[in-house]
Amino acid sequence: MPELPEVETSRRGIAPHIVGETLLYAVVRHPQLRWPVSEEITQLSDEPVISLERRAKYLLLGLRHGWIIIHLGMSGRLRILSEEKAPEKHDHVDLVFSNGKILRYTDPRRFGAWLWETDLTQSRVLRHLGPEPLSDTFNAAWLMQKSATKKIAVKPWIMDNKLVVGVGNIYASESLFQAGIHPDRTASGLTQQESERLVTSIKTVLQRSIEQGGTTLRDFLQSDGKPGYFAQQLNVYGRAGEPCLQCGTLIISGRHAQRSTFWCPHCQH
Ligand SMILES: [Zn+2]
Repeated sequence: MPELPEVETSRRGIAPHIVGETLLYAVVRHPQLRWPVSEEITQLSDEPVISLERRAKYLLLGLRHGWIIIHLGMSGRLRILSEEKAPEKHDHVDLVFSNGKILRYTDPRRFGAWLWETDLTQSRVLRHLGPEPLSDTFNAAWLMQKSATKKIAVKPWIMDNKLVVGVGNIYASESLFQAGIHPDRTASGLTQQESERLVTSIKTVLQRSIEQGGTTLRDFLQSDGKPGYFAQQLNVYGRAGEPCLQCGTLIISGRHAQRSTFWCPHCQH
């Protein structure tokens, strides 16, 4: 599943090709995604592209009178084509631009979304989202305030979009390891110091992943490029039974809220 770093890398890869160009038209071959592709998108013509932004795992393509909101779902990906190429089975949406570039959306499982919104503050998919993890709004004070009454385990809590967006399952395990916090800890029991360490760890883990994504940009730009899932150095995730890279103790796995969790019983308390 594309995570926040992959979406941010996609944004950085796509933006130079389309921002400042004119969107000539959209081709929607298969409108049945997670929700039907918004009718407004199929009607767009000769629209200057003002911006390409990101909120959580949504890409926001800014036009004069509104936004195309794109979510990659479970298996979606976006590519820039330099020339027309016959679409394949899962190529559901194309945006065609004045410079000849085509933004092609491919999604075998069709859990993605293409929505039109004139006012982002009214968007049903955006309006309930918590702060961006790399923004100053997400800090230890915010984490402590929101956690004060939360009796749930810290692992599923930091994956809750109302607390902070973009902390997927892998990043949650890796951040808790880096912060030295056991994933079973009760959210409301985190100290000020632990909250500070956890916030810093979440930012560091995501930032590093985004930076590593930069190295995949070249692949991304090839028309036959693979999706930008990043092979990154993982300390605990997927390493059950292997020695901790810090202390040598064997990594343990378990489950929280139906998601697999990995931790070092020696380094995390
Ligand atoms: Zn360890």
